Amino acid sequence: MHDQDVIIVGAGPAGIGMGLVLQKLGIERFTILERDEVGSTFKRWPKEMRFITPSFTSNAFGLPDLNAVDPSTSPGFTLRIEHPSGEEYAEYLQRVVKHFDASVEERVEVEAVQVEQDGFLLETSDGQMRSQFLIWATGEFQYPYTTPFAGAELCRHSSTISSWTEIEEDDTLIIGGYESGIDGAVNLAQDGRNVRVIDIANRWQMSHPDPSIGISPYTLRRLEAVFHEERIELIQARVTEVKANGEGYEVLGSEGESWHSEAAPILATGFGGGVNQIRELFEWHEGGYPIVSEEADESTDTPGLFLVGPQVRHGNAILCFIYKFRQRFAVVGREIGQRMGLDTEVLEEYRLKQMYLDDLTCCEDNCTVC
Ligand SMILES: Cc1cc2nc3c(=O)[nH]c(=O)nc-3n(C[C@H](O)[C@H](O)[C@H](O)COP(=O)(O)OP(=O)(O)OC[C@H]3O[C@@H](n4cnc5c(N)ncnc54)[C@H](O)[C@@H]3O)c2cc1C
Repeated sequence: MHDQDVIIVGAGPAGIGMGLVLQKLGIERFTILERDEVGSTFKRWPKEMRFITPSFTSNAFGLPDLNAVDPSTSPGFTLRIEHPSGEEYAEYLQRVVKHFDASVEERVEVEAVQVEQDGFLLETSDGQMRSQFLIWATGEFQYPYTTPFAGAELCRHSSTISSWTEIEEDDTLIIGGYESGIDGAVNLAQDGRNVRVIDIANRWQMSHPDPSIGISPYTLRRLEAVFHEERIELIQARVTEVKANGEGYEVLGSEGESWHSEAAPILATGFGGGVNQIRELFEWHEGGYPIVSEEADESTDTPGLFLVGPQVRHGNAILCFIYKFRQRFAVVGREIGQRMGLDTEVLEEYRLKQMYLDDLTCCEDNCTVC
């Protein structure tokens, strides 16, 4: 016997948005298990950090707010703000859960997953649970990538910073110049501190149509606004090692360069993923991401296991923003609904509201994403 038809693990935007699709399909026996609280990742963001994707209540014209997890909601409308902070976005998610009365069990951690003949057995902090289908929605932020080069353990990862005012030193060295790194540099410079940012690609000059690769206009504008004060130095180089010495830290580059830092350098080199918790249930691409079916984002190794959120990859299509990965909720829902013999026509609403992408083709040609 299954306790649930579907269990979703993780109550961030991916888990909540996916849960609302199951609800629309009429699936009553589903639950979302969350080890902390709804939107907990966003509560861990540095206090100063804001969404780079703007929120705007354009829903009525077939263009749902970029940060909405359901086409009938809008953080811009609910929060009355264009670039929410993490705390504000968590509040939006909590209000969505309350409004739709979505089934979420907080403070329940999934510790292990076993595949059974007709479903899954989950070992949780609240005992065992069984389900026919399992949807993994555990995100990335809570799983920082901390080993990009030798000595990285001497650095401090950006995801451990709850406010940039915690940094006491006047000079900070940040390794990684994508959104988190530049956000940190701008905040420190606004506070009158000097910052060096080292990045392998000079993303600040890169022009790329996909915001998962280039820096967003929001961040570039913020960078430009403080750049003339000459507190920020942008360095293009590949860091290969960090060493501690009596006076601080030595950061070494691949071309023989070296930079000194009195304080532990900040690592802004990105994130791994919560999917590593059940790594063995997926085949892995040599590019380092789990392989899922093109039609329904189902593990090619474990039937009945689906992946939603920023770790879903299809070729060059990177789904790391909410407005991207939400397009697959209805695709996963359709597959589960059909296997359960349900009428999936109700999901047409998502297609009409442009929150439903069947075919994620490559970003290079015929791109449907960026
Ligand atoms: C610095 C930064 C800035 C960003 N800015 C933007 C932006 O402006 N716009 C945008 O669209 N996107 C942005 N993103 C990306 C976006 O925040 C993420 O893609 C999004 O949070 C992913 O949602 P999720 O639901 O998959 O993961 P999360 O929000 O991380 O939720 C996963 C949940 O799973 C829970 N969990 C994990 N493991 C378990 C377990 N074993 N058992 C139970 N629960 C578990 C966690 O507690 C967590 O609540 C940003 C990301 C970062 C890192």
